[in-house]
Amino acid sequence: MKKILQDLSFGELETLVLSYGEKKFRAKQLFEGLMQGKRLSEIPVSSALRRALLEEYEDEPVKIKETFVSKEDGTKKFLFELADGNLIEGVFMRYKYGNTQCVSTQVGCRMGCKFCASTLGGLVRNLTAGEILGQILAVNRSEGGTLKDRAVTNAVLMGSGEPFDNYENVVKFLKNVSAEGGICMSPRNISLSTCGIVPAMKRFADEGLPVNLTISLHASSDGERARVMPVAKAYSIAEIMDACAYYFQKTGRRYIFEYTLIAGENCDREHAEALAMLVKGQPCHVNLIRLNEVKERSLAAADEKAAYRFLGVLEKSGVSATLRRSLGSDIGGACGQLRASYLENKQEDNKDEN
Ligand code: SAH
Repeated sequence: MKKILQDLSFGELETLVLSYGEKKFRAKQLFEGLMQGKRLSEIPVSSALRRALLEEYEDEPVKIKETFVSKEDGTKKFLFELADGNLIEGVFMRYKYGNTQCVSTQVGCRMGCKFCASTLGGLVRNLTAGEILGQILAVNRSEGGTLKDRAVTNAVLMGSGEPFDNYENVVKFLKNVSAEGGICMSPRNISLSTCGIVPAMKRFADEGLPVNLTISLHASSDGERARVMPVAKAYSIAEIMDACAYYFQKTGRRYIFEYTLIAGENCDREHAEALAMLVKGQPCHVNLIRLNEVKERSLAAADEKAAYRFLGVLEKSGVSATLRRSLGSDIGGACGQLRASYLENKQEDNKDEN
């Protein structure tokens, strides 16, 4: 695979341009063009420079292959193709305060959470910083956004993959996406969700990036958590809480716990009370979401009544919490489903041809 131009920071691009004997200002032109989601052929640089770059570098790391639009709420799901043919997906949601894009950090995932579709085929590979950024650049452009007037204003690292299992590339992405002269998205408008890889949480706290940290909890005891999240065998809830406290101490930022409500697993009154006990008094918020059912898994969503009861218990205990509504449910359920069903259809097509 060729190297990826969008992996480069502005400074790295400058060094590269100078190494080709070109003037420094070409780097600015190039950077601005790339951050607008343009290909080299659309950026006014000399044909010699374009040719030299294309010999070594890929200029379109993420292509929109298909778009699915929800009739219910306008949410869009994108199927992206990477330069090596791998597929990832992303979701674009419109809210009153801005437009949020859900971004993938890996092709597949190796965390093995029992409720998640992204992990069904295991980890295929990490995405590079430019492939993570490329998802945002492609959607910003296709939605009519520019660098000044962005269509994508917020991002959540909640697509396929575990961001902290691809730490270096994710941090580089965060630096490049917020860099001046580029798409310049504030880290404050970005949320990173982790299944709770404790050493990486601590390292991230030291990174000095004001990103919103979200931790997927889904249970209040290690035993229950390990039933749905294998990573719970590596890091205990106590260690996660420690890392959260460290994060707050270093950054002064509140953090968020994600809690997916799964019927018969984690959504009884006792579970809500245990969660309230666990997080009460912490500088945190709890995001509840009813499970998006994944057809390969036997787990079912908690019903709405149970979800509101759960929320009520948290609120009564003084825990800040919301029950998130699910967007785009008519265009293919849970995270990871789009890629999985696309690959499945492809296999069916191939069968027909044989
Ligand atoms: N690896 C990261 C990002 C995963 S996706 C993490 O574990 O946090 C973002 C959120 O969606 C996580 O909280 C994840 O647990 C949740 N999620 C995954 N599959 C889901 C499903 N089928 N229904 C509801 N939430 C789900």
